[in-house]
Amino acid sequence: MDFHSTDNNSTRRIAALKQRVDSLRENDLYFYNQAVEEMLPDAKVRVRGRIMGMYASYSYLGLVGHPRINEAAKRAVDKFGTGTNGVRTLAGTLTIHNELEETIANFKHTETAITYTSGYVTNLTVISSLMGRGDYVFSDKINHASIVDGCLMSGAEFRRFRHNDMEHLEGLLKNAPADVSKLVIADSVFSMDGDIIDLPKIVELTKKYNAWLMIDEAHSVGVLGKTGTGIEEHFGMGDVIDIKMGTLSKTIPSVGGYVAGKKELIDFLRHGSRAYIFSAALPPAQAAAANEAFKVILDEPERLDRLNANTKQFIGGLKSMGFDTLLTETAIVPVLCGTDEKAMELTKRCQQQDVFVLPVVSPAVQEGMSRLRATVTAAHDPSDIEHAMDVIYQAGKAMGMVK
Ligand SMILES: *Cc1c(COP(=O)(O)O)cnc(C)c1O
Repeated sequence: MDFHSTDNNSTRRIAALKQRVDSLRENDLYFYNQAVEEMLPDAKVRVRGRIMGMYASYSYLGLVGHPRINEAAKRAVDKFGTGTNGVRTLAGTLTIHNELEETIANFKHTETAITYTSGYVTNLTVISSLMGRGDYVFSDKINHASIVDGCLMSGAEFRRFRHNDMEHLEGLLKNAPADVSKLVIADSVFSMDGDIIDLPKIVELTKKYNAWLMIDEAHSVGVLGKTGTGIEEHFGMGDVIDIKMGTLSKTIPSVGGYVAGKKELIDFLRHGSRAYIFSAALPPAQAAAANEAFKVILDEPERLDRLNANTKQFIGGLKSMGFDTLLTETAIVPVLCGTDEKAMELTKRCQQQDVFVLPVVSPAVQEGMSRLRATVTAAHDPSDIEHAMDVIYQAGKAMGMVK
């Protein structure tokens, strides 16, 4: 049957998307789904036969390919094979899963932890199993899509507060009924802007209004805090977050997601969250790699020092060239362009000079806020960063973005 033979909403959506993608491809402005052919030292990659500096990676501490982590994965394959006997609740749990969860609990200073097979699924299943009809969730306007989807899936009343605006959040909390369950949820480091949630204030508000606090640490584990344990360490606060969520796919070079917290909460999730009960366990190699990576973060603190120095160099350099990097304080560095077209044009010019950056355009960000979103890692060499900034500068200058 011809896929497009019937005319309905779905086939029209497919046709509209095809038209947009085709037009980008024709204009050499399609940057998605490019395959990396080889990972090279110093955060370089080979793409379409060319050696490029990678400035779009989430491997903030440069742990992808770390020998200790690779070894741990190989040992796990030799011991357990490449798959499991099914879902965790039934026959899928291996000792390496329990070890990983203990490692995470220690790293996050909580009683225990639970893991899932992706960060995206972790947010969906955790939010929707804790919250339901009649409850209230409060979510930052620019929270990650997986949080938004989890809130919608829960069926709870969904309230969005202006980005990092604690007065607005307080107003919304005040207006909610006193006797319902409330959950406040935010990214720790915002994935498009690189700025940091006001944790002290949000903790104060959740206490005052008797709400749970869930923080998504996808971009802060290994990045924030003196030893890289995350946002609580960054603000010098103890164990103040009820539901500490994170991914195993960014600084941790594996795949999966976790929640660390009190034993009762985690026990509830082990028996009440559908992605744990109805989806297969993490493969042994990925669980072992993640387990080793948390240890490497603590054993090799010089990586975080390098990340901090590189971040400072990158943000400071781009700012002094006249670019608007919004309020970033972390390794995620937006270079504001305005229109989608400008963001794509700047990307094209950078990639032509072998600097691998990517554009973020609407609807992923608000219209008029399209940008180049560059990331820097501990693996970059300072002289390469200097070169990449020069490429971005020359491109921006040619486009009239900076003088
Ligand atoms: C990447 C990301 C996720 C999803 O994690 P995956 O492991 O890639 O599924 C969730 N939340 C935030 C804030 C993220 O940046």
